[in-house]
Amino acid sequence: MDCIFCKIIGGEIPSAKVYEDEELVIFKDIHPMAKIHLLAVPKEHFPTLAELGGERAALLGRTLQKIGALAPSLGLEEGYRLVVNQGERAGQTVPHLHIHILGGETLGWE
Ligand code: AMP
Ligand code: ZN
Repeated sequence: MDCIFCKIIGGEIPSAKVYEDEELVIFKDIHPMAKIHLLAVPKEHFPTLAELGGERAALLGRTLQKIGALAPSLGLEEGYRLVVNQGERAGQTVPHLHIHILGGETLGWE
């Protein structure tokens, strides 16, 4: 499949991984928008929340739980922001569901 995140998951393209298990990988974003900018990417390929069925909903729940548990060890103990761009108009450039994790500094909200 011609999906850059599937290629990262498959090991065809290198990435700076900070976490991996059987269903999830977390790696550094190549164009960081904050001091710490990670991408949490479920290994299963589906583009958006519109394709979120029952088992995928559970996968997403586990993904959020893992982010919460891992945050202190990733340098995010003082807070972080999650962003999930959905569709072109929101700036989604990779059609493989992913959660941006931003932190490591004070983040503006205006
Ligand atoms: P989005 O625009 O929400 O689809 O997010 C896609 C993100 O993937 C962007 O922030 C890109 O900087 C990031 N990205 C694209 N290619 C790579 C790569 N090879 N390794 C790490 N991050 C990447
Ligand atoms: Zn993919």
